Amino acid sequence: MRTFICAVFLAAGLSAQGGGGHDGGEKVDLYTINRIRNEAFQNSKVMENAFYLTDVYGPRLTGSPGIQAAAEWAVRRFDEWGLSNAKLEKWGPFGRTWYCVRFAAHMKEPQYSPLIGFARPWSPGTNGTLTGDPVLAPIHTEADMEKFKGKLKGKIVLLENARPSPLITAGLARRLTNEELAAEALAPDPSPESPFFAPIPRLPQPLPYPGYTGKEDHEAARKWRNKVNRFLREEGVALTLIPGYGTDGGTVFATAAGSRELRDEVPPPAVALTLEHYDRIARLIEKKTPVTLQFDIENRMENEEKDSFNVTAEIPGAGKTGKKDEVVMLGAHLDSWTGGTGATDNAAGCAVTMEVIRILKTLKVDLPRTVRIALWTGEEQGLLGSKAYVKEHFADRETMALKPEHARLSGYFNLDNGTGKIRGVYLQDNDMMRPVFEAWLAPFKDLGASTITIRKTGGTDHLSFDAVGLPGFQFIQDPVEYGTRTHHSNMDLYDRLQQPDLMQAAAIMASVVYHAATRDQMLPRKELPKPEPKKKPEEEKEKEKQEKASVVAGH
Ligand SMILES: [Zn+2]
Repeated sequence: MRTFICAVFLAAGLSAQGGGGHDGGEKVDLYTINRIRNEAFQNSKVMENAFYLTDVYGPRLTGSPGIQAAAEWAVRRFDEWGLSNAKLEKWGPFGRTWYCVRFAAHMKEPQYSPLIGFARPWSPGTNGTLTGDPVLAPIHTEADMEKFKGKLKGKIVLLENARPSPLITAGLARRLTNEELAAEALAPDPSPESPFFAPIPRLPQPLPYPGYTGKEDHEAARKWRNKVNRFLREEGVALTLIPGYGTDGGTVFATAAGSRELRDEVPPPAVALTLEHYDRIARLIEKKTPVTLQFDIENRMENEEKDSFNVTAEIPGAGKTGKKDEVVMLGAHLDSWTGGTGATDNAAGCAVTMEVIRILKTLKVDLPRTVRIALWTGEEQGLLGSKAYVKEHFADRETMALKPEHARLSGYFNLDNGTGKIRGVYLQDNDMMRPVFEAWLAPFKDLGASTITIRKTGGTDHLSFDAVGLPGFQFIQDPVEYGTRTHHSNMDLYDRLQQPDLMQAAAIMASVVYHAATRDQMLPRKELPKPEPKKKPEEEKEKEKQEKASVVAGH
């Protein structure tokens, strides 16, 4: 037996498009929600998914063997579950591939100590064992380069000064409080992007590049990184060391040393060490005590343009409503950072979205619209996989030329803020969705998911859809240890995944996707954005200027 209840909301009448039924209320199918909850909590496969994605195939940096194997495993799993069209869908080019196959780091003098750390992506290996004395050479300005010119040949270079670790008295893991959720539910004035997880306790950091104003300029950062990397290579530096950027305690957070892009400079071998080990070396150098370090690192980097892929699979729409060509999508990014196995970023989201589609398929619920899952790659390098997919299927962000599929995508639901359970949803400035989500989340109040905020959130793949005027949403999640321990660290491992949270997220997302796929109308959309022609990189602008100048000079 099937029970439909009509949740009636004062606001529903305001939204002609948003109201699902002719009575103005949003239909909620409690019978199916009950089945979904039971399947999600009593027969969960979410931790099994997470095990394969992390322990077996992690890390999953885009272009590495790990992500290839994880993608092929996901396709096999989708086939086993009876999904349709499970496949790897190519996009590209991504650029250089990179992965580490061996890493050993030791302090030999003044006493032996193993060093906790990892090779920074897109740096080369040491070509055998490298033994050497470290020197302190913080390079944050052009003047620093002048100062160290000619002094770094064959050296292991510490790129930053010692940065003593403060005492952390607060717990690393936390839940959002009722007060925080209530504050998040209020409209901001004016609408800035909400932080996508609680602020990370960070030590004072050196400026990312000279002239940094507090607002990240990607191109300026890139130019500076290239300049430093060129300098380090030309000076013949043997290897560079940086401390992790968190408060550490054995947890190393680190960024790439080089880049996937062929036009960018390749750095010398580069290692991030846990702050305590880094500081020990720096203090020894400062006190003029001889230090000997030893590294043996093998990284594989193919210096050519390589393509990548997204993984997709479907439950085709069925029934007599004629809606099977309309699509509801859900997804998460399959690629990870290195150091750990990418458990909370974002095996968690992949394990949950895979569980969602398994639940819907297992329960054989009637889905008039097609439900499609996508596991993206290249997210960590700038949402590359989802952007490529949106451009291929829906619309070109630069021209806003729409493809026929643009008219048939009802909405996209993303999960990528760690292991924390769902506490609500960001409307992403689409207030027409408020009565819809209010009705959909109402049956999950007892699971703590009822906050609905007009705010936008950034940092992940729903933005690729939102950018071309398609309804794309990311959920509000408890931060748990995302900022403090796991996000882009060597401790982003299976153990940090919280099973009850992932089960809760799967139940809620399965219900949301089910209701989107069965709703009378497609989801209400915001106004179409204007075309956004790509800004040309400075090199190209410079070249054009020179060409123009030579044409003028020639005539
Ligand atoms: Zn992520």
